[in-house]
Amino acid sequence: MKSSSICVKEFKDNNKVSSHILPIYASSSFTFENVENSLGIFAGKSDGYIYSRYANPTIDAVSNKIALLESHGLDIDSFCYLTSSGMSAISTLVMGILKSGDTILTQGNLYGGTTELFLDIFKNMGINVLFTNLSSTEKVKEALDNNNSIKLIYAETPSNPSLDCIDLLEISNIAKEYNILTAVDNTFCTPLIQQPFSFGIDFIIHSTTKYLNGHGNSTSGAILGRDKNLSKQIWKALKLIGSTCNPFDAWLLNNGLKTVSLRMNEHSKNALTLALFLKNNKRVTKVNYPGISSHKDHLIAKKQMSTFGGMLSFEFDGSYEETLQTINKLKFCTIAPTLGDVDTLLLHPASSSHINVPKEIREANGISDSLIRVSVGIEDINDILSDFNIALS
Ligand SMILES: *Cc1c(COP(=O)(O)O)cnc(C)c1O
Repeated sequence: MKSSSICVKEFKDNNKVSSHILPIYASSSFTFENVENSLGIFAGKSDGYIYSRYANPTIDAVSNKIALLESHGLDIDSFCYLTSSGMSAISTLVMGILKSGDTILTQGNLYGGTTELFLDIFKNMGINVLFTNLSSTEKVKEALDNNNSIKLIYAETPSNPSLDCIDLLEISNIAKEYNILTAVDNTFCTPLIQQPFSFGIDFIIHSTTKYLNGHGNSTSGAILGRDKNLSKQIWKALKLIGSTCNPFDAWLLNNGLKTVSLRMNEHSKNALTLALFLKNNKRVTKVNYPGISSHKDHLIAKKQMSTFGGMLSFEFDGSYEETLQTINKLKFCTIAPTLGDVDTLLLHPASSSHINVPKEIREANGISDSLIRVSVGIEDINDILSDFNIALS
């Protein structure tokens, strides 16, 4: 072989090596021993990898772990596909299971990107969206009685940023009665806190960018389900839209998953302590945290969540300007438009995520000028408390 060919040729590694940690298969395609082997894999008669947009061993190892977590302790088989982001998980699910003319029934206080996706992209493609109060059995049934194009109920609990909770068993029971599908965005909880499958929900969405990764260093999403036929439909959508995750982000997610159980316990513990501290602060007028008994959905949260997670929001007696000043005084916490990382993060929805939402509409959704959202981290709680104590005094 000429040296120029040696340069070009792909040399195999020593496949007797057994690495302790999952390797990153940074390969767009996989080779075949011979054409018979290729034919068998393409025909679906034998197992094997073809092309990383279809499937990749690094990504599969991680998605299998998330499937095990979401169905843990339940007598079901679940599947999981990793996608390039939480948003692509939502769009791939919808394109995989719905068609033009179908309607999604959902709530008004979804993650902002999801609302925009439904209104600005899917509506133009003929998939309609109907908003209602998913906590009201009457309202949900009324919507379903009046519209037989509804094929999917899409819920988020606890919701952002007011931390309202929706009764998952109730939603799943109504959907079964009307023979329609249900999907839940479980990003705020992770399967360590809430398992929507245990209430009969059909699909689960994650922005794994948040708690499942936990370290803020990758963007990816997950679609989970339990029906084999629908799994094939979703895989087809994933493969043809090309919304697949990449091996490096899957690998970073894998690192995060190792500590997610420990982290969720600490997030929940710190958030509960901070919520109680804020509740006792004279300047604070409202604390939204599902783990405290004064929260309107505390009983629902207790029924379906094992702990109450790391997200909370609160309002205090300050104007818009005073709120901005108070946030600037929080020196230990960090201002960042994400959540679920190990460090405590702050968001002022009125001046950031909801800046383009008219004031009346945002206030009707519980987002006042002084509302501050906190993604409570796993630092020592005393450092977090003293930061809030100084900023609010
Ligand atoms: C962040 C987030 C998303 C979108 O996920 P990306 O990974 O940013 O695409 C969807 N739902 C919820 C609840 C989120 O917090």
